[in-house]
Amino acid sequence: MDDECLFCQIASGKIASDIVYEDNDVVAFTDVSPGAPTHLLIVPRVHLASLNDTDTKDIELLGKMMRAAITLAKEHDLAEGGYRLVINTGKDAGQTVGHIHLHLLGGRSLSWPPG
Ligand code: AMP
Ligand code: ZN
Repeated sequence: MDDECLFCQIASGKIASDIVYEDNDVVAFTDVSPGAPTHLLIVPRVHLASLNDTDTKDIELLGKMMRAAITLAKEHDLAEGGYRLVINTGKDAGQTVGHIHLHLLGGRSLSWPPG
C-alpha cells in the first residue's frame, strides 16, 4: 500500500485528477466535490500537513500558491465578479485532507461568514 498522502499522489500524477495548472512548485486541480461553479485546489508538490507546519522558509511557496490561485481566478473570469481563497486548517475548520491546500471558489455569490 502507498503511504503517500492523497494530494501528494495527485501532485505526482499517481492518482488521476483534473489538473488545471502545474509548475515546479505547485499543482492545481478541480475539487472532486465542488462547492461552487469554479472550485479548484492549489497544493504544493512538497508535503506540508497544514499551515501549522509551515515556517518562514515556506513564505515563497505560500506566495506561489496564492499567485497561482490569482492567475487561475483571472483565467476563469472570476476577477471582476469576485472569488474566495480559503485554507481550512485543523479540525474546527473542517480540514479533511492532511496536505495543505488552497481552495479557490467562485462563479456564484458566496455567503459570509461561512458555516
Ligand atoms: P478540506 O475540507 O479543506 O480539507 O478540503 C478537502 C477537499 O478535497 C474537499 O473539498 C474535497 O472535496 C476535496 N477532495 C477530496 N478528494 C479529492 C480528490 N481525489 N480529487 C479532488 N478533490 C478531492
Ligand atoms: Zn501530501
